[in-house]
Amino acid sequence: MDHKKSLELYIHIPFCVQKCLYCDFLSFEAEKQLQVEYMDQLRSEILSSGPWYEDCRVETIFIGGGTPSVLDPEQITLLMQAVNKSFLVAEDAEITIEANPGTLLARKLPVYLAAGINRLSLGLQSTNNEELKRLGRIHTFEDFLKGFQSARMAGFTNINVDLMSAIPGQSLESWKSTLKKVIMLKPEHISAYSLILEEGTAFGRHYLEKGKEQTSFPKGEVGSEDGADLDELSQWPELLDEEEERQMYYLARNLLEEAGYHSYEISNYARSGFACRHNIGYWTGKEYLGLGLGASSYVNGRRFCNESKLDAYQKLDFSLDGLEQLHGELHVQSRREQMEEFMFLGLRMTEGVSAAAFTREFGVHIDSIYGEVLRRLEKEGLLVRNGRHIALTQWGIDVSNYVLSEFLLDAGAEERKDKEE
Ligand code: SF4
Repeated sequence: MDHKKSLELYIHIPFCVQKCLYCDFLSFEAEKQLQVEYMDQLRSEILSSGPWYEDCRVETIFIGGGTPSVLDPEQITLLMQAVNKSFLVAEDAEITIEANPGTLLARKLPVYLAAGINRLSLGLQSTNNEELKRLGRIHTFEDFLKGFQSARMAGFTNINVDLMSAIPGQSLESWKSTLKKVIMLKPEHISAYSLILEEGTAFGRHYLEKGKEQTSFPKGEVGSEDGADLDELSQWPELLDEEEERQMYYLARNLLEEAGYHSYEISNYARSGFACRHNIGYWTGKEYLGLGLGASSYVNGRRFCNESKLDAYQKLDFSLDGLEQLHGELHVQSRREQMEEFMFLGLRMTEGVSAAAFTREFGVHIDSIYGEVLRRLEKEGLLVRNGRHIALTQWGIDVSNYVLSEFLLDAGAEERKDKEE
């Protein structure tokens, strides 16, 4: 038994065919040539980073974006070769690639498998083509079906399907139909998030900033190249209210659990043995290294974020001081921040946080830091203690923003304590 530290890798591919109307991820359209140049630079970053992590074993890899499936599949082969050359990757590592059904051609799938990828995450969002169009997605439900079946035929035995509820104008019936159609396909994992309005997106501008009368869209941000959808989209449906969102959440939870999917996190469901190891690592505070444009990392208690401007990223020389420049400022988390994050992320898990893990991590019992707040929230019916775990109740999930805010610690007290010491 060696003593390698466990590490997760996140690899960012920032390209998409077009921007979805709700999306604030670091992603954009790019010509083939630029994609190839970026992938060359990403491989240099990987090859230069590997030696710094010789004491680590990579347990999970997540190739996300953007849309990794937009690339020629040979790029994924080269990418994985660089990873295997630079890092010690566990034999049973979970290796996921995200794919958009609009770009998942059948010929790409065997190449992914041969490159060692063993999990596919398909962004479907809805089985209703009207809703897909409303979100600015480039694909239809039929495209997804083709991709899903091709993936099964190619030999993928671990597939996630991403779904989205609370799409403007979506009815409970329509959400039910999406869930039922996807359940019938028996993917191993389903993520079901509610739409979140982000500032700076077309949805954000419409719904948050300018009110519902605003109907004009910046060029290039609408779900159609020729702009033919503009008129249709000018009739933007109303947002759902909180109660409707909550009903959709319960519907998903009930239907998925009935169908044998275990809810292991607020928005994630899996068949037995298929919970996403990469995300669990993230929620339980495991260290991860982000590679590629704008990717963030958490290593040795430090957080850092890669350069997020493509021009600047492409100019870095990784054989010199490129890695230093890439990572920019390091943020060393204080103990207070680490404790807060431990609670925020851990309580998203259905199992909750482990009191023993808290003690292992911070050298103090959880009650000595959070005893008062835990007792109060438990009394209010928002938390429950099961043996050594502390988890949100159903009501706690409903008002999770409030519950999680109760775990913020007093920064002033920490500073005063530091000075005393
Ligand atoms: S495909 Fe994904 S990453 Fe790309 S624009 Fe749409 S939501 Fe964003």
